[in-house]
Amino acid sequence: MTATAPREERLWSRCAGCASLLYRKRLRRNLDVCPECGEHARLAAPERLRQLVDPGSLRPLPAQLPEADPIDFVDVLPYPHRLSAARASTGLAEAVVCATATIGGHPAVLAVMDFRFLGGSLGCAVGELITRAAERALDDRIPLILITASGGARMQEGALSLMQMATISQAIAALREAGLLTVSVLTDPTYGGVAASFATNTDLVLAESGARMGFAGPRVIRQVTGRALPEGFQSADVLLRHGQVDMVVQRRSLRGRLGALLAATGPARAGRPARPPVPRQEPAPLRERLAEVAPAAAVTPPTGPGAPAVRDAWDTVRMARHPGRPTTLDYLDLVFDGFVELHGDRLGGDCPAIVGGVARLADRHVMVIGHQKGHTTAELVARNFGMASPAGHRKALRLMRLAARLGLPVVTLVDTPGADPGVSAEEQGQAAAIAENILTLTVLPTPVLAVITGEGGSGGALALAVADRVLMLENAVYSVISPEGCAAILWPDRSAAPQAARALRLTAPDLCRLGVVDEIVPEPPTAAHDDPAETAHRLRAALLTNLLPLLDVPPAMLVRLRRQRFRRFGSARAGVRAGAR
Ligand SMILES: [Zn+2]
Repeated sequence: MTATAPREERLWSRCAGCASLLYRKRLRRNLDVCPECGEHARLAAPERLRQLVDPGSLRPLPAQLPEADPIDFVDVLPYPHRLSAARASTGLAEAVVCATATIGGHPAVLAVMDFRFLGGSLGCAVGELITRAAERALDDRIPLILITASGGARMQEGALSLMQMATISQAIAALREAGLLTVSVLTDPTYGGVAASFATNTDLVLAESGARMGFAGPRVIRQVTGRALPEGFQSADVLLRHGQVDMVVQRRSLRGRLGALLAATGPARAGRPARPPVPRQEPAPLRERLAEVAPAAAVTPPTGPGAPAVRDAWDTVRMARHPGRPTTLDYLDLVFDGFVELHGDRLGGDCPAIVGGVARLADRHVMVIGHQKGHTTAELVARNFGMASPAGHRKALRLMRLAARLGLPVVTLVDTPGADPGVSAEEQGQAAAIAENILTLTVLPTPVLAVITGEGGSGGALALAVADRVLMLENAVYSVISPEGCAAILWPDRSAAPQAARALRLTAPDLCRLGVVDEIVPEPPTAAHDDPAETAHRLRAALLTNLLPLLDVPPAMLVRLRRQRFRRFGSARAGVRAGAR
């Protein structure tokens, strides 16, 4: 509301549910729930905190922020302009407010997202602040409560936004390991990368009455399926019916319900001795950490004679999608020996878009898991264009865990436009399936080597790409959103996809510079689709070079280094960027 708004507009507001004109003070007293129809209006983060915590107990956590605009993103407006406008209109530094407080006398750390700030989008600063909140919960040995409201990952920070899904997930994994409760409260709306990570991989998932949650948004699903959506699709009550949330809670009951859950799981419960806080070591300075996880040369793309030619990002996107490009099954044939495919998620499905099984790589046994596209329309349709369903992600999860039990390294081959954006995929818990894979990969006690071979599309790609080493074929792409999707949102229309492709920094050299990718696998002079055998030969050499050193690292050290690899994208990205120029 602007300062020039007439006085009556500030005194009254219209319900988005029933269009009743409501006296604002009365609405506020009713926690911004319409007394006529029960519609739960969206809350700003400070108001949400005020409603939830014990009076006088709120202690905001420091919110020093890393550098904004890590990829110099410009659409029709430069990203810093959008950020300043969001700061001015909300009075917040970022799209999340973190604090410690008590609820019903029980201490907790809270991270509350604010949808008013760039749609509650998850960028590096939000990732860093939530990760620090989780680390504070670990230090203090108290529960973490996440109140989510987000359209998804922040496009303007490219693949670095995607990395935040892994960074926060591993902080949640650390709380799981320490036996500390994590709770997410889904508020309206919670979508995309937030839904597919910390909104659903917590111990408990509550949905506020009227909240909608999903991986793909309703508009995208309607576009893809060309059909009307079922009644109540992605709404709290339907999520409950499909087993996706623990409970649906009215706003007026939320504080009491959270208090009761904290009481039931708190340190005072029987048989659980209270443990003293664990001192946490401060993270080492960036350069030391980078030196530890990756040699300096590996984060710098090759230059000089023999280096890959610089190609326009949009041309690279088209190359990455070329139907002749080798698929996972082609690589299994050309790179590996003795592949034995394993099927099924053991929960009722076998997704054809994910293939996996045991194979040999130069006489070493490995578990290979990859997205499968196809070369012909029939093959592509049979494989759902490489877009995995929840069953596909759960099959991958089963095979990752099996590999860890058997002591096999995991090699993943990533080539997907994104996770399946269908109605049944949503009903079967697409967001939670992706979230669980991301979290599991952050703790998997066996080497994980990921290769982006074609399209690395968003959360569906990351579900197979949280790895010790991430390689990328020269003409592959890896992005938080498709250029077409980004153009449709930030530009006047989809024809701006080539500009969006450039702005997103989705090519292998860009991602190498940002530290998202460790090494580029050069393709033959023409491209992978012109010489699959030579591409496979080069991929095999790169896999062996990167895998063999990992085999000597003890599992606990491997997991520690992997976590450091993904922890650096929040706090230290300014340094990564400076170091690359
Ligand atoms: Zn109403």
